[in-house]
Amino acid sequence: MANLDEPLRKVLGDKTAGALKKGLDLHTVGDLLHHYPRRYAHRGELTQLSGLQDGEHVTVMAEVVKVQGRSLTRSPGYVLEITVTDGTGLLKLSFFGRKGSYRPEKELSPGTRGLFAGKISTYVPRSGKTVRQLTHPQYKVVHEKGAEEAAQEWADEIIPIYPSTKALPIEAISTSVETVLAQLDLPDDPMPDALLSRRHLIGLREAYEGIHRPRTWDELGRAKARLKWDEAFVVQIALAQRRVVAASLPAKPRSPSFGGIQAEFDARLPFELTEGQRQVGDEIAADLAKSHPMHRLLQGDVGAGKTVVALRAMLQVVDGGGQAALLAPTEVLAQQHYRSITGMLGDLAQAGQIGGAEHATRVALLTGSQGAKARKEALLEAASGAAGIVVGTHALLQETVQFADLGLVVVDEQHRFGVEQRDALREKVDGGRPHVLVMTATPIPRTVAMTVFGDLETSVLGQLPAGRSQIQTHVVPPEKPAFLARTWERIKEEAANGRQIYIVCPRIGEQEGDEGDSVVAEEADRRSPLGIMEVLPKLEELLDGLRIGVLHGKLHPDEKDAVMRRFTARELDVLLATTVIEVGVDVPNATVMVIMDADRFGVSQLHQLRGRVGRGSLHGLCLLVTDAAPGSKARERLDAVASTTDGFKLSRLDLEQRREGDVLGAAQAGRSSSLRLLTLQRDEDVIRDAREEATALVGSDPDLSAHPGLATVLASLLDEERADFLEKT
Ligand code: ADP
Ligand code: MG
Repeated sequence: MANLDEPLRKVLGDKTAGALKKGLDLHTVGDLLHHYPRRYAHRGELTQLSGLQDGEHVTVMAEVVKVQGRSLTRSPGYVLEITVTDGTGLLKLSFFGRKGSYRPEKELSPGTRGLFAGKISTYVPRSGKTVRQLTHPQYKVVHEKGAEEAAQEWADEIIPIYPSTKALPIEAISTSVETVLAQLDLPDDPMPDALLSRRHLIGLREAYEGIHRPRTWDELGRAKARLKWDEAFVVQIALAQRRVVAASLPAKPRSPSFGGIQAEFDARLPFELTEGQRQVGDEIAADLAKSHPMHRLLQGDVGAGKTVVALRAMLQVVDGGGQAALLAPTEVLAQQHYRSITGMLGDLAQAGQIGGAEHATRVALLTGSQGAKARKEALLEAASGAAGIVVGTHALLQETVQFADLGLVVVDEQHRFGVEQRDALREKVDGGRPHVLVMTATPIPRTVAMTVFGDLETSVLGQLPAGRSQIQTHVVPPEKPAFLARTWERIKEEAANGRQIYIVCPRIGEQEGDEGDSVVAEEADRRSPLGIMEVLPKLEELLDGLRIGVLHGKLHPDEKDAVMRRFTARELDVLLATTVIEVGVDVPNATVMVIMDADRFGVSQLHQLRGRVGRGSLHGLCLLVTDAAPGSKARERLDAVASTTDGFKLSRLDLEQRREGDVLGAAQAGRSSSLRLLTLQRDEDVIRDAREEATALVGSDPDLSAHPGLATVLASLLDEERADFLEKT
């Protein structure tokens, strides 16, 4: 008998186990059992030989009529040619290799019936009649049962089609799985009985049988439901535990105070807070007053006004005698936050200076690239507690950065930071934890929020501030060259009216190792995406007389800062940039954004980018320039972006188009490896139910001592995750 950890070698022998390891990276009984069929064929669905098309991927059921081996003429080697028929047509199967080295010869003798799968190719021999063939088809011999009634059973049989390789055909995998299932020795089901019956789930053994050897489609459905549940549940248990641990940690409460810097700031606000800002503000204020750390995710579409919400939270902490750190993903954004926060605070940020207001504090900026003197000053202000607010990039995470009393960490644009980084900042507090507020403008679909960010509470800023103008988006397609000409005209008109314009390209150009990583992967046969440096001379010609600035990731941070300052001060009309302006850049006077090679960007990315315009009371215009053909997938995406400004809708679309692993992998290392059947697109209800059950279970049994089976499964998931994470760092 074999348990899940048993090496396959012991069950299947060295040869087969070796092949499974080499070809499919499967080592243990558990690995093989989790190598689920990609899909299932059954006889009723099989394609008839007469209707086969060139290039089609097919599975056919046919009988061998002729077997012929011949040596190749031009190269050493041998080809085994087998002709099969299903009565409606003929198909040739070719297997190349050394003579006698092939199982097909032994298994596929005339009269044998089998399933054959592969991609159809055709050729016309001298005789003139088109021959259809499958080269190295995957196949499975089907033994015909003699009896009449057995025929029906056979017709209904569900045939698992496994992900396979040339060396490991489907049928070799099927046989191995059968052997393993026959010897399988499972411990008690890790899922509590009561839970299984409450959620109408079958047992684990039955599920393994059902996914690998389903007798009916119902059986298969039940097996999938159970295995999906396990995937969702284990992740939710881990998250529920995180929440319990976090909630039990001590944190210094920072109650709202009357008549402090926050109240002073509120009184000076040049606008009314929106209903949403007020509500979320109250939630956060209440969280900060608790003696356990807040872990809150603040979602709000681009331009929703998250910064003010965060700043008010930071000021509450300053009022409570503590400090707040604001962590930004890029240098540009850190600098902009610093500028806008000091700007909004005015003399409230000038403590210790002449003219500093009563209750005033100080704001420090800490980035990786600043000069030694500025850095030393900032470090000192953070460590002494003089700075109530410290704004910075990753540099804030370094060990040398010390705080006198860090009470709140605000992470802007969370999707760029992982859990580990959040934790690094949390460690900076002696004998307790800071409160944490994570902000993201990429609307996160509920399922992702519940999985990747499942240890955070969520607040949503639903509406945009009043008076916020519309953004109109248009595609500028290759078949309408007049649109492009009009684009340049429009830019000149806007500039003449004193407005400003962004032009975005996917690449910097003229150098190796561009910041291309955030751009949709390139296909081999396409021209490389437009680079700023290639576009610049043309723009200077087209937009003669306009002041054009250039901004990209490879610039020295001082230069970046200088360019942003000049743009903000309206000393530039046009900012030609890469996606460094994607997050958070806020220049209300900018009204037009032109995105070159727009099809090279992801949907959410385009949405983020266009959020840079239409921020003030002026209407925004976004032009998506592309040479993608009408009707192509790329054009569909662009049309979708042009058709709606609903970020949630777009992020769902984005999620559908990306692979699961990308979504999860980007946000948090490792978690993807445990998801095989569960999809974030389609299984929201499973994830929600699992979260509910996991929260309840962990609530009554935090360390899973009453659920040893579950504890074991969890431990192995976490190991896997840690291993993955280590590999990636
Ligand atoms: P985001 O949520 O994208 O980070 P910001 O916080 O940068 O958005 O806010 C966008 C702009 O809206 C800023 O210029 C900000 O001053 C302004 N703003 C924020 N809240 C309001 C409000 N309640 N009324 C009017 N303008 C606001
Ligand atoms: Mg922002």
